[in-house]
Amino acid sequence: MTSGEKTTSDAPRIVSDVVCAFCGLGCDDLEVAVAGRRVTPRKACAEAARLLARGEAAPPGPRIGGAPADLPQAAAAAAGLLSAARATAITGLGADLEGLRRLYDLAMTGGASFDHAASPGLFANLERLARRGWIAATLAEVRNRCDVLVVLGDDPAPAFSRFFERAVPHAAMGAGADAAPLFVARSLKRRIVIVGGALGEASRRALAGHEVAQIPVPADGIATAAAALAAFLAGRDVDGLAGMDGATAAALAELAGLLKAARYGVLTWNAASLPPADAAAVAGAAADAVDLLNVATRAAVFPLGGRDNVTGAHQLALWRFGYPLRTVVGAGTARHVPDLYATEAALADADLVLHACAFRPDPPPDFAGGPVIALAHPDTVFVREPDVFIPVGTPGVDHAGHVFRMDSVVCLPLQALRPQDLPSMADAARAILAAMGGRAA
Ligand code: SF4
Repeated sequence: MTSGEKTTSDAPRIVSDVVCAFCGLGCDDLEVAVAGRRVTPRKACAEAARLLARGEAAPPGPRIGGAPADLPQAAAAAAGLLSAARATAITGLGADLEGLRRLYDLAMTGGASFDHAASPGLFANLERLARRGWIAATLAEVRNRCDVLVVLGDDPAPAFSRFFERAVPHAAMGAGADAAPLFVARSLKRRIVIVGGALGEASRRALAGHEVAQIPVPADGIATAAAALAAFLAGRDVDGLAGMDGATAAALAELAGLLKAARYGVLTWNAASLPPADAAAVAGAAADAVDLLNVATRAAVFPLGGRDNVTGAHQLALWRFGYPLRTVVGAGTARHVPDLYATEAALADADLVLHACAFRPDPPPDFAGGPVIALAHPDTVFVREPDVFIPVGTPGVDHAGHVFRMDSVVCLPLQALRPQDLPSMADAARAILAAMGGRAA
């Protein structure tokens, strides 16, 4: 039994301090009750509760063309498809680090491009980060230092439900709230400014102890508003910015003054929830604003993202190949062409899809250009039965593993909560690799 577990003879085993791998925030204070195969969340956000809950039912076994098979048979069938393919696209990429390592082994052995289901937001941010860099805060720095937090875009809560609780805790959240921050009093009223839509009820509750203001801006106006904020910080006027009404311009000018007077301002946004054509511009303007602020005070960006370990998939690709996601590898070479190897583009040229998705039952993308191999969550409902399906366990539920938090600086250990009946993503990929005669790196 680990230190986080409590049990009496017949009662379910209570496991506390469970680390969550789903949205990227990396909460590590969840609690579940485990009885046999059943996992019942006791303390978790709605998303984590949905994805952690498990019943007693035995999981499905592997299938080949819809017919039951064992793991060696399914691995051999997948190996045959991978060896025969001309252009394999690996999609989803929702796996812990060990699973990703073995998927990248498969890509190297059979030749394949790879992309993550959550990478559009990541690549919008990389447009700025890769070209000019930026000054970014960790989650700990936000909670411990930030006195003015600016949200560019709509309420982050639908995608990151505990963001405000984790980033700007306050005594008003009560004893159940996250641990006290350092360097700022837990009773400090921070200034929170939303440049976007109205906050939902849960976020208003989480921020009840702070001073919250909203500058109403529609989704398609966020990029202009962010550019205006950067322009005010640079001492320029905003006459050339189309669609900026006087009241909004005045509110943004006031926000620029607030940030200049702040000790540690933070600008955050969720690139995945912004209009795709504007997300990179918002990230660029936020980074510009932070550059300008750091001449006289301190400020940082805190981009939201990291769903299903996309941060780990990105980091691992950089370490392993020297390129980020949206790269094709094989025969000892790697070629990074984001426009060609983003999932949608890669599917247009592929003759085989290997869909890897261990965290949630998301089916493979639509694909009619050839066979589909799915190394996927056991509850996945397929529109088209995969040619090979190997159900895999979920990291942090069925087996241990590691994932990266959204700010890239913390690699979180996940524990197994129940007996492992399913192969992990790494087990499944390793079995396919062995059937192909390949070797793990
Ligand atoms: S907010 Fe994210 S990391 Fe935290 S419990 Fe919910 S899904 Fe998990």
